[in-house]
Parts: sequence; C-alpha cells; structure tokens
Amino acid sequence: VPVVAMRGVRKSFNVGEPNETEVLHGIDLSLQRGEFYALMGPSGSGKSTLLNIVGLLDRPSAGQLAICGEETTRLDDRSLTRLRGHAIGFVFQYHHLIGAFSAVENVMMPMLAAGHLPREEMARRAAGLIEQVGLAPWRDQPAGRLSGGQQQRVAVARALAMDPALLLADEPTGNLDSKSADLVFGLLRDASRERGTTVLFVTHNPALAARCDRTLQVVDGSMAA
Ligand code: ADP
Ligand code: ADP
Repeated sequence: VPVVAMRGVRKSFNVGEPNETEVLHGIDLSLQRGEFYALMGPSGSGKSTLLNIVGLLDRPSAGQLAICGEETTRLDDRSLTRLRGHAIGFVFQYHHLIGAFSAVENVMMPMLAAGHLPREEMARRAAGLIEQVGLAPWRDQPAGRLSGGQQQRVAVARALAMDPALLLADEPTGNLDSKSADLVFGLLRDASRERGTTVLFVTHNPALAARCDRTLQVVDGSMAA
C-alpha cells in the first residue's frame, strides 16, 4: 500500500462566504514507501495547503486520503491526532524548537506526547538521533544557543523520533546557508534511503529538487504532469 493515497482532493476556504475560493482542484497523489519527492510550484499555487492536508493538520473539502492504508476522511479529530503522531513527522522552514530545552530534550518531545515509551528508552533514542544528525557534542546545549543550521538538524532528528512512515518538510532549507542546506538535505536523503521513510520535500531550489527521486509540481491548485 502507498504511504499516501489521495484521490480527488479539493480544498476551499471561506466556504459559504462571498469570498469563498477553491485552492485545490481535485488532487490525485500516490506516494510510495522510501521514495524522496520534491514538491515544487509557484508561491500561492497550493503547496502548503496540500502539505497541511497530507499531514492531517487540515481536512479536505472533498475527496479521499489514506495514510498507510488507513482512510482518514471519516476519522474524528482525536484519531487523526493519534495517526499523525505515529505516522507523520514535520520539519518546517522555521524550526519551532523549544529554545530553553536541550537538543536531546527537544527530540524527546514527540515521544513524550505519544506517551507509551519508558523514559530511559526515550532518552536513548533521542541521543541516538542527535548523534545521527552530527550533534553529539551539543546534545545537552539549550537549542536556542545552537546555530540556525544546527537547530534545523535538531528539528529533523525530532521529526524522526517516532520513526514515521512519512516526513513532510516545508522548505526546511529555505533559511539556511548552502552548506547547512546541504547537511539538512542529506539527513532527509538518509531517512529515505536508510529508514525507508517517504519524504515530501517542498523546495524552490531546482538543484536540490534534481537530487530527489521524483519532482511533483503544483500549478494553480492542480498537479502538473
Ligand atoms: P507559504 O508559506 O504559503 O508556503 P511560501 O513559503 O511558498 O509561502 O512563500 C513565501 C514567500 O517567500 C513567497 O513570496 C515566495 O515567493 C517567497 N519564497 C520563499 N522561499 C523562496 C525561495 N527559496 N526562492 C524564492 N522565493 C521564495
Ligand atoms: P503555497 O504554499 O504554494 O505558497 P498556499 O497553499 O499557501 O500556497 O496558498 C494557496 C492559495 O490559498 C493562496 O491563494 C492563498 O492565499 C490561499 N490560502 C491559503 N490558506 C488560506 C486560508 N486559510 N484562507 C484563505 N485562503 C487561503
């Protein structure tokens, strides 16, 4: 089964208001396990709206969406939250770390939220992830003291904490210098190759998109061929 199976997804904002607008016009999308997808498209084309729907942060106005074979459109908010927590990791352009918490503590957050792992296991896993992203010497530093590139690497480690089937990355390299962008890109690449994580990577950078397995293009709320 595909990790993401989307059929005929439409999204309208301001439904029933004079300014109602349909932003996604019937999207079909199938994302396979372990594949690394670049998602491109002009600003305002609907990439963030699409990502929010794939990430179960927002609901489609119409159409079907299955995550790892589970049809989501009829699930209540609580079930969506639970599925999101276990199946999906997020990295945003801005890292959203808790600055006063250490790197390791930030990576533990999703595991604490899921709530079923013993504390030592969480700490062990978080330390392992911090090491994987090359930040072992900084593991106990407050995240707020790290450089922008280091913070984004912590954000990737945090996104992988629950070993999600799907990693959604919305311009995670947009604010970084090219060396840090390369490092962060490499971590996403590693996740897809070594963990079999499906990665959907929104970028405006054609050179990075060219290094993904496939490029998807959103134009005016539809997928371009
Ligand atoms: P959203 O947050 O709705 O996804 P975007 O991040 O796509 O919006 O874009 C925000 C603004 O920044 C837009 O004006 C967009 O053109 C611009 N922008 C963002 N990243 C880049 C980039 N790497 N190159 C060029 N323009 C960019
Ligand atoms: P992108 O990420 O490609 O820049 P977005 O998904 O952010 O595009 O936006 C697509 C279109 O949907 C834009 O015209 C934007 O103004 C509109 N839009 C996004 N979110 C909302 C919202 N909450 N309410 C109304 N319009 C929205």
